[in-house]
Amino acid sequence: MNGHMTIGEIQAGLRSREFSAKELATKALSHAESVNEETNAYLLFSHARALEQAELVDLQIAEGKEPGPLAGVPVAVKDVILTKGVRTTCGSKILERFVPPYDATAVTRLESAGGVIIGKTNCDEFAMGSSNENSAFGPVRNPVALDRVPGGSSGGSAAVVAQGTACVSLGSDTGGSIRQPASFCGVVGVTPTYGRVSRYGLVAFASSLDHIGPFAHNVRDAATLLRVIAGHDALDSTSAAAPVPDYLAALDGNVRGVKLGVPKEYFKDATGETAGLVERAIEVLRLEGAEIHEISLPSTDYAVDTYYVLSTAEASSNLARYDGVRYTTRSPHSDTLSDMYRNTRGENFGAEVKRRIMLGTYVLSHGYYDAYYLKAQKVRALITRDFTDAFRSVDAILAPVSPFPAFKLGEKVNDPMQMYLSDIYTVTGSLAGIPCMSVPCGLTTDGLPVGLQILCNHFDESRMFRIADAFERIVK
Ligand code: GLN
Repeated sequence: MNGHMTIGEIQAGLRSREFSAKELATKALSHAESVNEETNAYLLFSHARALEQAELVDLQIAEGKEPGPLAGVPVAVKDVILTKGVRTTCGSKILERFVPPYDATAVTRLESAGGVIIGKTNCDEFAMGSSNENSAFGPVRNPVALDRVPGGSSGGSAAVVAQGTACVSLGSDTGGSIRQPASFCGVVGVTPTYGRVSRYGLVAFASSLDHIGPFAHNVRDAATLLRVIAGHDALDSTSAAAPVPDYLAALDGNVRGVKLGVPKEYFKDATGETAGLVERAIEVLRLEGAEIHEISLPSTDYAVDTYYVLSTAEASSNLARYDGVRYTTRSPHSDTLSDMYRNTRGENFGAEVKRRIMLGTYVLSHGYYDAYYLKAQKVRALITRDFTDAFRSVDAILAPVSPFPAFKLGEKVNDPMQMYLSDIYTVTGSLAGIPCMSVPCGLTTDGLPVGLQILCNHFDESRMFRIADAFERIVK
């Protein structure tokens, strides 16, 4: 793949025999490899798997079979999502040599639909971060401005779509890791309703918050990919039984009479240019016939604190499994079993992961459980209630994704508190488990992309896509 082809263009090209899936995959791989030095967005290229899958698609087409909605589409997968036989590191030294014995359900589904996985994308270690600078394999550079971060933690998955080396990609979002990098790189990024996409084979960070979701160049392609990977999965007990609608059928370009809420709390910390671009986007939708209502989500102020208590608590428990006994990496410098645990973890986890394990262990400890963990659970319920109340009077909510555009590499890396604040507008939707997405809404005077965030009620992805697509049609 060279440049930005849409799923529709790829399908048309395959059907008219302009190119084969194998030719496309070969081209995509060589293009991706040739530009990777610039951005470090891929950690690995899966040549054999990609070519085998592309040949299968070509065979299906030759035999007149229906090869699926993602036939021949070059896809990249965040390296926290398991791929059988293809190394999956989670951006961590502790999994540097880990080769999974099975595929994530999302991966199985996207390949059954004809998608061609060309590689695994770089990310913050165990998806903890907002800038991709916490990867053990070096940071990703933003293809829009190489001295800037792509956002995180799915920075690699956003960057590969922005640079046009993959048509679409999969990321994961726990507190904003799809929307924020999508906003920073100028692509579409979708966090579906919690439970909409199976988490089977997604390496756990904070299980009650983890989601898999798509990145794409446009809303239609993101909706196509979500439809393929969504739906109940018996292998994930939190996956929802709700049927998956035809998202593409909702893309009619019509937002007349749609009630859009604008929460005043979401503009307090945004920089002038970011707020300005988001306000202009809201005005565009108003002129298109949407009704704009100012609303309030009063618990927003507590969201970052709540998120960092709950996500670190869950992470400290989930990451206990990396003990030197399982998953290949073991410290060679230990005389006793407990030294082996300590050394394996001490030598192979990065600073941010250690910080979160310590914080999580602390908030779960006997003396502090009630004061922190239990309190945070209660505030999470209040944040969810804010949204439930809001959706009684509006159909969707519009907000910035992040208070600022992509920042310079190194700018916030020594100030975890500043870094955590980049998530101020995304963690709320994650805590409530509602679908939310970022759609590009313009560039700052420095040419940096800014995303408009659209949030809807549980399982209302169709409406969210309709609004995003209508907006995209006007501004593109
Ligand atoms: N940036 C947030 C964090 O560091 C969100 C991460 C994510 O969504 N995976 O935890």
